Amino acid sequence: MSDARVGLVIEDDHDIRELVRTVLSQAGFDVSVASSGAEGVLAAKNINPDVITLDLGLPDIDGFEVSRQIREFSDAYIVMLTARTEELDTLIGLESGADDYLTKPFRPRELRARIAAMMRRPRSVSDPSEAPPAADAQAEGAGSPERGNFSHNGLELSYSSRTVVVDGKEMNLTRTEFELLHALLEAGRTVRTKSDLVRRLRDEDYDVGSYISEADERSVEVHMGNLRKKLGDSPQKPRWLQTVRGVGYRLAPGEH
Ligand code: CA
Repeated sequence: MSDARVGLVIEDDHDIRELVRTVLSQAGFDVSVASSGAEGVLAAKNINPDVITLDLGLPDIDGFEVSRQIREFSDAYIVMLTARTEELDTLIGLESGADDYLTKPFRPRELRARIAAMMRRPRSVSDPSEAPPAADAQAEGAGSPERGNFSHNGLELSYSSRTVVVDGKEMNLTRTEFELLHALLEAGRTVRTKSDLVRRLRDEDYDVGSYISEADERSVEVHMGNLRKKLGDSPQKPRWLQTVRGVGYRLAPGEH
């Protein structure tokens, strides 16, 4: 079996398809393309890609449905390409399973940066070569700088095994949701701004000063909304995810 990472581009617009294909090829991927949703789902089954870019507006099935179908058998990193920023609003309720969203027209380097950040994260625990060495040091509660284990108000997160358990039940989070939750557990009661969290998802330092667009921040809101829903957390009386209006998010206080 080849070690090359595999990318799949699902896009009906020829020019965008070729642009994305070029970006992924330059990033070292073996790239396949599909020009419809049905073709894309089939290709995803056949080639087991690491990364999928998915156009929202496809001629047959829309990108949300394609993403849901692919999620049934794949943990590929899915980047949804949408035509307008406003469409992000509709993503909140849809839980399509996409990890990231980019609005067209996007800059190729933006796509490249996101894919590079994602490839630095472990893909899954089933591949031991990618899992960090067993971290036995238990970081009790929040505020630990270690990437390890966190336990807060009935939620347990293990970074090394990429698992989140809430009241004894294992959660099925996307990679992006996992990273956001981890960032908040790590920060404890310190507020993380939306820009901080965008940078975290890009795997950049918090103070690097790179450009953050409004759409990037909206995308964090979308993921937080989905995460909250999956955890069954309440925005009014949060157990974990507390919104700091106009700023960002932080971990809710510990229950006693
Ligand atoms: Ca399209």
